[in-house]
Amino acid sequence: MKIHEYQGKEILRQYGVTVPRGIPCLSVEEAVKAAETLGGPVWVVKAQIHAGGRGKGGGVKVAKSMEQVKEYAEQILGMQLITHQTSPEGQKVRRLLIEEGADIKKELYVSLVTDRVSQRVVLMASSEGGMDIEEVAHSNPEKIHHIAIDPSVGLTDAEADDISAKIGVPPESIADARVQLQGLYKAYWETDASLAEINPLILTGSGKVIALDAKFNFDSNALYRQPNIVAYRDLDEEDAAEVEASKFDLAYISLDGNIGCLVNGAGLAMATMDTIKLFGGEPANFLDVGGGATAEKVTEAFKIMLKNPGLKAILVNIFGGIMRCDVIAEGVITASKAVSLTVPLVVRMKGTNEDIGKKMLADSGLPIIAADTMEDAAKAVVAAAAAHKA
Ligand code: ADP
Ligand code: MG
Repeated sequence: MKIHEYQGKEILRQYGVTVPRGIPCLSVEEAVKAAETLGGPVWVVKAQIHAGGRGKGGGVKVAKSMEQVKEYAEQILGMQLITHQTSPEGQKVRRLLIEEGADIKKELYVSLVTDRVSQRVVLMASSEGGMDIEEVAHSNPEKIHHIAIDPSVGLTDAEADDISAKIGVPPESIADARVQLQGLYKAYWETDASLAEINPLILTGSGKVIALDAKFNFDSNALYRQPNIVAYRDLDEEDAAEVEASKFDLAYISLDGNIGCLVNGAGLAMATMDTIKLFGGEPANFLDVGGGATAEKVTEAFKIMLKNPGLKAILVNIFGGIMRCDVIAEGVITASKAVSLTVPLVVRMKGTNEDIGKKMLADSGLPIIAADTMEDAAKAVVAAAAAHKA
């Protein structure tokens, strides 16, 4: 789960990390009022969307007068902000953060991620802040420093000071940087984050260390014990189909192809998408309905897929292990009748009671295209999608 920058900064503040004073707003009037409350002489008007790279896309503007605050707020609120992390259409800006302007002397980079190989939280830091870290990793990998943090002791003073020195924090600011890094680590650890990125962490003219940006992702499997984090969820920023799917416990990811996939098991779902691509098709989604592909779940999955105006065909690929194929067939038949299917449906079932299931589908009178192997199924659905108009 992702959150907004202003929310990330609220968390950081609670952990003693220095962030600029700022006020989130939903309208131009609120933005002007916020700027008045903060006081001048410089403010930054920042689009709040769940994606980075806002500055380059025109979503972060420095204002030097109240008129400029108003002008930029008008410009940014409601715009479709396109960054390298949004979809090509961009993301609509519904919120702003009005922040006091910081006196930036140097922009640094720090982030925390959970590294599965070392099974530790890894702190990454670089002197090259403010820009795409992917670019730095590509062209100057030696400028990115790492520490795998021992969970039993946390980020030690020595580790914090060492990495700060490596990224060019001057001796008089090392103690301040330590407070920021250790606060960031504690925030990450206690909120079950999976990513915390401060880009840039800045050195000010007076030698202070401040987090100027805040990007957090959280482990969705831990949200059950993080009510304060769940409260930050902003469904406007999430894919509508994915939000709907999560209500029915369906693992669904929207993709940009036109063949809907309904599969049980994540591994089979991946293999199904691969096979579709192998035969020249493009999946419209990843969907794992889980072990129990009940009629209710299949119906909801159909409804979600059918909301996609670009959908041209659906492939149901189910392995009947614990769940029997006749039960699945019943689910598919009930679901097909419940939603008015407007696209061709290809069904492949394998496993327990396969023959009974296939007969049920054939006898249902529904225009279902039956397929036996993965190859048959993929070829059939690619052909059906190509032939389907509208
Ligand atoms: P993004 O990473 O999405 O582009 P940032 O919050 O990092 O957004 O802002 C982009 C740039 O804008 C920063 O690298 C920094 O140079 C500048 N900036 C952001 N916030 C402030 C601020 N409060 N004061 C001064 N400059 C800022
Ligand atoms: Mg940034």
